[in-house]
Amino acid sequence: MIDVTTLTIEKAAKHLKAGDFTAVELAEACLKKIEESDKEINSFLEVYDDVLAQAAEADKKIAGSASPLTGIPLAVKDNILIEGRRASAASKILEGFVAPYDATVIARLKTRSPVFVGRTNMDEFAMGSSTENSAFGPTRNPYDPTRVPGGSSGGSAAAVVMGGALAALGSDTGGSIRQPASLCGLVGFKGSYGAVSRYGLVAMGSSLDQIGPLAKTVSDAELLFNAIAGADCLDSTSVSLPPAREGGLRVGVPSDFLEKGIDQDVLRNFKESLERLKDCGCETRELKFAALHYALPVYYIIMPAEASTNLSRFDGVKYGRREEGGDFFDDYRATRRHFGSEVRRRIMLGTYVLSSGYYDAYYRLAVALRSLLRREFESAFGLVDFIATPTSPTPAWKIGEKAGNSLSMYLSDIFTVTANIVGLPAISIPSGLVRREGVDLPVSIQLMAPYKADPALFSLGKRFEKTNRT
Ligand code: GLN
Repeated sequence: MIDVTTLTIEKAAKHLKAGDFTAVELAEACLKKIEESDKEINSFLEVYDDVLAQAAEADKKIAGSASPLTGIPLAVKDNILIEGRRASAASKILEGFVAPYDATVIARLKTRSPVFVGRTNMDEFAMGSSTENSAFGPTRNPYDPTRVPGGSSGGSAAAVVMGGALAALGSDTGGSIRQPASLCGLVGFKGSYGAVSRYGLVAMGSSLDQIGPLAKTVSDAELLFNAIAGADCLDSTSVSLPPAREGGLRVGVPSDFLEKGIDQDVLRNFKESLERLKDCGCETRELKFAALHYALPVYYIIMPAEASTNLSRFDGVKYGRREEGGDFFDDYRATRRHFGSEVRRRIMLGTYVLSSGYYDAYYRLAVALRSLLRREFESAFGLVDFIATPTSPTPAWKIGEKAGNSLSMYLSDIFTVTANIVGLPAISIPSGLVRREGVDLPVSIQLMAPYKADPALFSLGKRFEKTNRT
């Protein structure tokens, strides 16, 4: 029997090569898990009906393939386009939309013949931190189904933990890969801005968005990231990363930033993680950032400004659903009524901060603070090679606990948004468990590195993982 809940891509690839099991058997094991658990967990919006056919095709290629991804079951967030398949970004407004082309990340993966199991649940248009904003019901955390899996890539995270796929793709605009990875005990990675092409990703905040992997180990995340990364002529903001270099091991900690609003068990675990980093040969030092506490407000101005602009394309004409009214404006209003309440809130916030009377007070100021933050990080990376924080200030919370309170939901992004604002790579790595109501819940450490130093995060991440004591 294949235990897909613990199996990594690396191990599965070896077994597939050795003929210990076939890609069809592996896919069957994932489908069985989905059958058993996903009624409750709700991690998939759709499980494809050709999973076994894809696996059979992969089986023909395994012997001759150099890629460890051949025959590996993967789950894909519902905002990443796969040609001929539906993509809804978990929104009613895109219900029934069929992707006319492959996202670049998908085209790159297809050359390696993995098995796409299905599209995963998410917060509508990736707006949220709990997957409760999906138009198709919340996803539940497999560690404790009364709790959220994080978001917005909560479906991708839960699918992997449950055993529905060995790894998944998510998207990260302010933490949406790293935070659900943290709340579900997985590794989540967001590369430097531009490291992965955004072509074929349903846009949220275009200066912040990145696609990336959620996986069980740092090596698996690296493997998947390397398969999708690299410059792409279809996304002019994409870049190629230089080869890995041996770097230093100085880790900066913004200690004063970690004092408020953080769960005490999470803080204790983070301090233990810093000790573990020392076991890896790291030297830690405190860093002071004058502008770091502006990161969250800056994010919640720039992101809605960009999101409101991006979402203007959902007008009932170009994509997805269309409602007919009496005239053009009625059509528009009736169609856009299919947006959920969080999406509407951000469209309103975004149009407000961009409106002529408030542009200077909000948007322009946020852009100026973004530059300030960039400069602060540039000088910090003159002193250290990594910056460490927890990924999330709390472990997974109860479904419904923050749903009515946008501010408390937004505060859960406090540690993750900065990497997007300044365009830096960041990884979330499981660092232990904290107990809540008799259940052990995962917590994680986040490491950030200088622009284009993505490989350094994988190499330190692998060392850190080896010191795991849980
Ligand atoms: N939780 C953040 C938000 O709601 C991040 C979302 C994301 O990264 N897509 O904006």
